[in-house]
Amino acid sequence: MERNYPIECHCHQCGSVTVIYVHEADYVKRISRRSPVQNSFPYLTMPERETVISGMCVECQKRVFPLNYDKDGNWVGYHDIPF
Ligand SMILES: [Zn+2]
Repeated sequence: MERNYPIECHCHQCGSVTVIYVHEADYVKRISRRSPVQNSFPYLTMPERETVISGMCVECQKRVFPLNYDKDGNWVGYHDIPF
C-alpha cells in the first residue's frame, strides 16, 4: 500500500509547513479511534512522528533536541531521559 495521504504539520517554532505522507486508511483509523501516532503509523521515523504530533519540523527538532541527532543529522534516539 502506498503512503498517499498528506498530513500538513505547522511548525510553531519557525512557521514552516511539513507534509508527512501516510496511508489514508491509517489516518482515518487514527482520527476515528483516536489511536496514538506510534500505533497508527508504525512506519514513520521518530522525527516524522514528532512532526505529526507536535508539528515541529525536523530542522527545529534538531535545534531544540540536538542530543537526539548525530553530527550528520541522523536520529539517534531520545537522550533527554537518563536512566
Ligand atoms: Zn520549524
